[in-house]
Amino acid sequence: MLPVIALIGRPNVGKSTLFNRLTRSRDAIVSNYPGLTRDRQYGFGKIGPVAYIVIDTGGVAGGEIGVNELMVEQTLAAMKEADTVVVMVDGRNGLTSADEYVVDLVRRHSRKAWLAVNKAEGLDQDLVSSEFHALGLGKPIAISAAHGDRIANFMEEVLAPFTNTTPVVIEPADKNKELRIAVIGR
Ligand code: GDP
Ligand code: MG
Repeated sequence: MLPVIALIGRPNVGKSTLFNRLTRSRDAIVSNYPGLTRDRQYGFGKIGPVAYIVIDTGGVAGGEIGVNELMVEQTLAAMKEADTVVVMVDGRNGLTSADEYVVDLVRRHSRKAWLAVNKAEGLDQDLVSSEFHALGLGKPIAISAAHGDRIANFMEEVLAPFTNTTPVVIEPADKNKELRIAVIGR
């Protein structure tokens, strides 16, 4: 089984941008308009030896703090499906009450979560992450989903617990015959 990683966070922090980078696709809708990705998106990706499935969560933004029922529903559903959760925040915007709300959901429903401080290109890593220590999710990692900064390092850490899931290699009985491959899993 492939590890399943859920990207969660309030709208506009860059979840769909990271999803696209991790799946090398343009399947997720990326937009300036918070909440345009209405449903969860699933993508397949591979970094180093580890293949994974990544879930992008969306939902219509609402209310003063940018959290509404649909977003909460999406976030909870994605966490339930995932082996690991990546919480994203916006390093340029700083810590918001919506971030705290999301982290509260994570703390109540998930075991292990990683904290990615996005939009950190060109900024001092320690400075941009410092205020997010208060979220209590461990060491915040400054990344840039749009520019690709430190994504590989970050994902290696996230995927480290799953590195021993070696893919099974099956040789075709007749090497001249076409190899037929079935893609299975959750
Ligand atoms: P989502 O609502 O969390 O899925 O966020 P999106 O991926 O749709 O991104 C929201 C906005 O942030 C878009 O305008 C993106 O171009 C922008 N964005 C995403 N990642 C980065 C980044 O690493 N740096 C900067 N400066 N902007 C980013
Ligand atoms: Mg999105």
